[in-house]
Amino acid sequence: MTQSDNLAFDAAHLWHPYSSVTQPPLLHEVVSASGVYLNLADGRRVIDGMSSWWSAIHGYNHPRLNQAAKDQIDKMAHVMFGGLTHDPAVSLARRLIDLTDPALDYVFLADTGSVSVEVAIKMALQYWIAQGKSQRHTLLTVRGGYHGDTFGAMSVCDPVNGMHSHFSGVLAKQIFAPPPQCGSDEDWHERDIEPVRALIAQHHDTMAAVIIEPLVQGAGGMRFYSAHYLKALRQLCDEYGLLLIFDEIATGFGRTGHLFAYQAADVVPDILCLGKALTGGYMTLAATLCSQQVATGISADGQGVLMHGPTFMGNPLACRVACESIDLLLASDWQQSVQSISAQLQSDLAPLAKQDLVKDVRVKGAIGVVELTVPLDPHMDWLPAFIVDQGVWIRPFRHLIYIMPPYIINTQQLRVLTHAIAQIVAAVSE
Ligand code: PMP
Repeated sequence: MTQSDNLAFDAAHLWHPYSSVTQPPLLHEVVSASGVYLNLADGRRVIDGMSSWWSAIHGYNHPRLNQAAKDQIDKMAHVMFGGLTHDPAVSLARRLIDLTDPALDYVFLADTGSVSVEVAIKMALQYWIAQGKSQRHTLLTVRGGYHGDTFGAMSVCDPVNGMHSHFSGVLAKQIFAPPPQCGSDEDWHERDIEPVRALIAQHHDTMAAVIIEPLVQGAGGMRFYSAHYLKALRQLCDEYGLLLIFDEIATGFGRTGHLFAYQAADVVPDILCLGKALTGGYMTLAATLCSQQVATGISADGQGVLMHGPTFMGNPLACRVACESIDLLLASDWQQSVQSISAQLQSDLAPLAKQDLVKDVRVKGAIGVVELTVPLDPHMDWLPAFIVDQGVWIRPFRHLIYIMPPYIINTQQLRVLTHAIAQIVAAVSE
């Protein structure tokens, strides 16, 4: 098959994320990837500003991750987790328990981030069922949040994001709080949490849990908010006996400058969802951690069995690579890398804030966001090709141009990315 054969077949037969078959998306074919580069079928190579949606933190084709996968595949690529266990899963669970707060004690190894959110929701609902309080089944979530595409996960996403608005009316019951207003710690004010307090005070009898992405609302708008908000949320949950779920699928493993974003607030959730960078972007794997209280609480009525058990649960290949990825991260000077990326994003992107078309420039850890005053949708017929012509891979979304590069990116490569953002802004301004 030639490149154009693949593109033609793809256009005729394949779905892509949020795609239409009548208007197939404009695509580039990638044949291999190495370091921060994606190698395209037309012979060009581009610097990846997306880390394959926050996941490839060590870049691509990493010798240690490759070797870990090769070693494991020769032993056992997969085996069912029902009634059996294995070292890759146990070793990964040990690492996750060691890295997170001592209160988080049990690990469910799911296959995707969305499923880890499903599991978190089931944990919360089953916890209350086992306590004899099955009326506590509503979930409090915040506007602007995004937690995945499966039904439970969609139920706690903000439909105003537009992604799941088709399904309004058939989703699990949720209550939306306004989004956090405090873009930074300096902006924080007690009144920011007041709408949440009012909702919890009114509905706590029927509420199971609060779910939120700590510090960064990712796919729903790339908004940042203060750690004080998380502290206040934890206090409210304690006051009203609600479970607190942190979705760190996007923020986990260093992206915000903290190994886990919740550590910035010095609070601990009852349930924690991880995914994306868990395997360094190599494979599909996610984890839901919960406290001893939640785990044993689910069985409090003597029959509580956590009702989830996917075929690829605890996949040994993915778990082995995840162990290697975590070891690689911890052995590296990742804080320094994220800090340097952050500083350069600040200085390179700041001048863009003066442009008429730019509403806001914001940076947190290794995340850089340029928010425009107009949506980019009308430009999407020429923009993808224009971006690749700049030697980069960036995927603008609505009003946003954002990057979250692999942590191994160097100064020159990052400059190519930030320069490309400036070029995009200039081209859209014309
Ligand atoms: N939660 C958050 C915060 C996410 O960013 C995502 C993915 N964009 C998910 C959940 C869903 O994860 P997955 O795509 O692996 O199902």
